[in-house]
Amino acid sequence: MGRKKPSRTVLLIEDNPGDARLFQEMLREQPDDLMRVVHVSSMGEAQIHLAANCTDMILLDLGLPDVQGLEAIRRAHAAAPRIPLVVLTGSDDETLASKALQSGAQDYLIKGEIESRGLLRSLRYAIERKNMEEALFAERERAQVTLNSIGDAVVCTDISGDITYLNLVAETMTGWSLEEAAGRPMTEVFRTLNTADESGETTSTLAILQFRAVHLPPRCTLIRRDGLEIPIEDCIAPIHNREGHAIGAVIVFRDVSVAQAMAQQITHSAEHDFLTGLPNRMLLNDRISHAITTAERNSKQVAVLFLDLDGFKYINDSLGHPIGDKLLQSIAHRLVECVRGDDTVSRQGGDEFVVLLPELAQAEDAAIMACRILRSVAAAHCIDPHELHVTTSIGISVFPDDGLSAESLIRNADTAMYQAKENGRQGYQFFKPAMNTRAVERQSVEEGLRRALERNEFLLYYQPKIDIKSGLITGAEALIRWVHPSRGMIHPAKFIPIAEDCGLILPISNWVLRNACQQAQAWTGDGHRLTMAVNVSAVQFRDDEFLKGLLSVLDESRLDPRALELELTESVLMKRVEYTAGILKTLRRSGIQVAVDDFGTGYSSLSYLRKFPIDTLKIDQSFVRQIASSADDAAIVTAIISMAQRLKLNVVAEGVETLQELEFLEAHECDQAQGYYFSHPVPAQDFEKLLVTSMSEPDGMRAAAWA
Ligand code: C2E
Ligand code: MG
Ligand code: MG
Repeated sequence: MGRKKPSRTVLLIEDNPGDARLFQEMLREQPDDLMRVVHVSSMGEAQIHLAANCTDMILLDLGLPDVQGLEAIRRAHAAAPRIPLVVLTGSDDETLASKALQSGAQDYLIKGEIESRGLLRSLRYAIERKNMEEALFAERERAQVTLNSIGDAVVCTDISGDITYLNLVAETMTGWSLEEAAGRPMTEVFRTLNTADESGETTSTLAILQFRAVHLPPRCTLIRRDGLEIPIEDCIAPIHNREGHAIGAVIVFRDVSVAQAMAQQITHSAEHDFLTGLPNRMLLNDRISHAITTAERNSKQVAVLFLDLDGFKYINDSLGHPIGDKLLQSIAHRLVECVRGDDTVSRQGGDEFVVLLPELAQAEDAAIMACRILRSVAAAHCIDPHELHVTTSIGISVFPDDGLSAESLIRNADTAMYQAKENGRQGYQFFKPAMNTRAVERQSVEEGLRRALERNEFLLYYQPKIDIKSGLITGAEALIRWVHPSRGMIHPAKFIPIAEDCGLILPISNWVLRNACQQAQAWTGDGHRLTMAVNVSAVQFRDDEFLKGLLSVLDESRLDPRALELELTESVLMKRVEYTAGILKTLRRSGIQVAVDDFGTGYSSLSYLRKFPIDTLKIDQSFVRQIASSADDAAIVTAIISMAQRLKLNVVAEGVETLQELEFLEAHECDQAQGYYFSHPVPAQDFEKLLVTSMSEPDGMRAAAWA
């Protein structure tokens, strides 16, 4: 079953009954094109019909009884504005025909020349044309609404660059209305700071010539009619005709001031410290690199000052972070006040700041700046309700001597800062290459230490303690040695502090204690009466497991606790006094002896000597060394001896090297002595020989030493 096209209704307005019949027949002759014809004889009837019925098209005779010519067209059009209209004229009047088309008719037909096919074709075309017109109107309407509701500005030009269109946003942004702008050159309406290149061509004609869409240069600025500048971002594209020839251009642009401000904000926060607003590490690195390039060109120097506050952590912990933050802000402010305009103050994080001094004539200028900063930071900071005092330590590195890159300059300034702290805070220190060597060495020691225990690289040496009166050996001090596979013998001063830092001191101390106890047990078992002294490090003493470990080692070795003596320095004893007193009491109860090592170099607060259960004082060798030359030191040694006697403590003089020293000590009734005068620290077998020799001599070790 073939599908029938829907029938269309034609309103035939024709007063001549013969003509009317003729047309009706013609239309009926075409069975494929179903046309239903409604016939009326006057415009009046037509108007009534149109008002009440649907009609697809109108076939209009121009010579009606109630209206003629163009007026007929006008009235029909007014009655049915959207319905296609074909007019019928009696004569071949070209002028009337063209006027008819202008008045809104789709086509005209000359009576007498029409045949059936031609009539139908004309009607069909009329309908199609009308539909297209409607579609075009809708399309244009849609484009118009779209262009006015988008956020972007749209400007169109013709091929010569004259404005043909502006949407509402473009009107606002340029300050021109479409009416005023139309026909003016684009460069007059769309004025930008970058539109013309050297050839004088505008970007739009350029785009048209090049046949492609182009973007304006970044950071293009539109100058509004009133002179206001607006940063924009845009795109220009050519418009082509059917043949592909450019006939104009479309410029689409938008205001990017908000986006630009946001981008600036983002860049700023990526490069600045949130707390102080100072440049951060990233921006500082850039600035240093830049300063290096400039300094190289001008044969100048660049200084990097690395600052670390002294004791900031204490303030932060005790007064709280909000106060700590305010203090950091106050310091940032002071630093900025200290420097010149082209210097950079940056915060590295925490309580670390870096100051960059570019274009330095001489390194001394960095020292002057460091002094100024030290003074400025040290002045009181009023942070409600506190008045805070804080000092800083500064390390300085200078390009090109101390590093050729931002990284190495910062690293070396940091190293120098540590040295400044060690030198006693609130000071500055220039970097020296030796500092690095030390750091490198320290690292290699640490790595070696980790393997030393399992590889059995430690040894114990023993140094005798001699009873001055009898010359007999009354004790031994166990002193650790590290026989490094490639470096040979390493003394404890070189590795004990590092072992303390990295925690290896605990297993090492345990090893020392076990070996010393076993050795002491072996010697006392052979009938020698002596005490074995073992040095206890601060970290070891403060370890929770210290006592437990000690007692279990003693137990294992079956050594009489009274034959063991622990050497503790004053500084170890004086930290956490309550804790120390508790441990010392336990030691006393178990029979283990306690000696204060290096006495005189530490706190010299003598009151604790009475509080703590202590057995022995070991006078530091620095005093012994000066006995003969310095009256003061001699006085100190004498005072220590007499005080010890009154407190009923045993006194040992360390580092006795000469007979003169020994005689002085003897004259002042010092109990014991230890030092190279009698013997260096020696391996266990050598120590055994000393034990035997000293017993066979009437004056014991005193004689042995003279021999
Ligand atoms: P210290 O406990 O004061 O040990 C005495 C140091 O003085 C030893 O150095 C010894 O060799 C040295 N000495 C002895 N007599 C003389 C002398 O007449 N003249 C001079 N100039 N020096 C003399 P050493 O063996 O290098 O030990 C240094 C320090 O290392 C010790 O000082 C002690 O604090 C620490 N130490 C040694 N062994 C150990 C250990 O096993 N554990 C712990 N924690 N520290 C240890
Ligand atoms: Mg010692
Ligand atoms: Mg000592």
